[in-house]
Amino acid sequence: MNQCAKCGACTSVCPVYQVTGRESLTARGKQHLLDRLSASKRSSAYPDILSKCLLCGACNDACPRSLDTPGLVIAARHRLRWFENRHFAKKLISKKALLYPGLVSRFIKTAARINEIFTKNLPADSGLRLRLSEFTGQWPASVTSERYTTARSKIWPTQDKPALSYFTGCTADYLFPEIGSATEMLLQKGCGSSLDIPESQSCCGLAAQATGDLNLAKKLAKTNIAAFESNSLPVFTSCASCYSHLMTYPDLLKNDSDWQHRAIRFAGRLQEFSTHFVNSIEFQARCKDIFNGSGPVKRRVVYHDPCHLRFGLKIIEPPRRLLTRFSGIELLELPHGPQCCGHGGLFSLVHPGLSHKIRDRLMANFKSLKVDTVVTTCSGCLLQWHQGLAAEKSTAKAIHLGVFLAKMLR
Ligand code: SF4
Ligand code: SF4
Repeated sequence: MNQCAKCGACTSVCPVYQVTGRESLTARGKQHLLDRLSASKRSSAYPDILSKCLLCGACNDACPRSLDTPGLVIAARHRLRWFENRHFAKKLISKKALLYPGLVSRFIKTAARINEIFTKNLPADSGLRLRLSEFTGQWPASVTSERYTTARSKIWPTQDKPALSYFTGCTADYLFPEIGSATEMLLQKGCGSSLDIPESQSCCGLAAQATGDLNLAKKLAKTNIAAFESNSLPVFTSCASCYSHLMTYPDLLKNDSDWQHRAIRFAGRLQEFSTHFVNSIEFQARCKDIFNGSGPVKRRVVYHDPCHLRFGLKIIEPPRRLLTRFSGIELLELPHGPQCCGHGGLFSLVHPGLSHKIRDRLMANFKSLKVDTVVTTCSGCLLQWHQGLAAEKSTAKAIHLGVFLAKMLR
């Protein structure tokens, strides 16, 4: 504490400040609050302020003192148990879903059905519809298809000796199984790599950590580390948020030396999606004709940077390098540069109004480009884009980079 120079470099970059103008919600404001936080001076305003953070890392990136405000917010949420007794239903759903990912599938299917009923029967401005859509509106209709890890044996009945292990993440497995299928297809056909998918893997734990439930986050981390220890293959994942969180396991488990060593070995095996393909000589060789053969029809594409890759890990160029190899793609940039989409995992559930405002700023900039496709590698961003484009009645499509590349490869 007391390290903040109060310089304000973190202010203008904070997506929450951009839509609220409230100094208390910036990293500087939160640092100030955390400096004075104590059990004896507890106020109901504290959890509210601490909950209004996307953990995007923009402040950390801009801070001349490299202060880790998102890390401090997570620690404070843990100490304050900020999620306890608040937003109980959302907490219950998210926590149970983390422990038992199968529940995600059932919940989503029910939510998608309820959503359909709202759309038909309730007026667009109905308060009930708006409140309930905080749960149900998250899920597009396509989520009702079969789980990816269940379906894959029908798509790839025989497997060669695996070259990579695949951490699917909940989204590619349960929510958008086409991401899992496309990833496997790209790796099989593009790189000649078969996949091993350990069955005992679980949710990465990012959402648990974001709520301050560090015990659950550690439990999930240990489950995943153990699940991938049956071999020493590189571990591939198609979700940017999962990847960035899996990379933090050594830090998460730093107080447990045995697990920390295992976490370091695990993190050293991780492969980020776009970096893997851009560096794969096999993929470049097999796709040479496709890169040059898209014909005269140009597709206007924007790549959306997930905050976790843009700030913490600085993975900005690889997806762009991959996309610009296709002669039929015109890659465009947003007028004011990359922007947060406002999803922030559970942030969009807890603060849907703020989340929509941040998303709407992004949509306003996006509209001026007249783009037909948005690609990204983060499952949360993808959900937010689906909702944003639907709200704007845009004809543009949001699609995972893997699904987009697989379509080009077919
Ligand atoms: S992590 Fe993002 S939302 Fe939170 S204070 Fe920093 S810039 Fe603002
Ligand atoms: S950029 Fe860093 S030092 Fe400057 S006000 Fe923000 S948190 Fe404090």
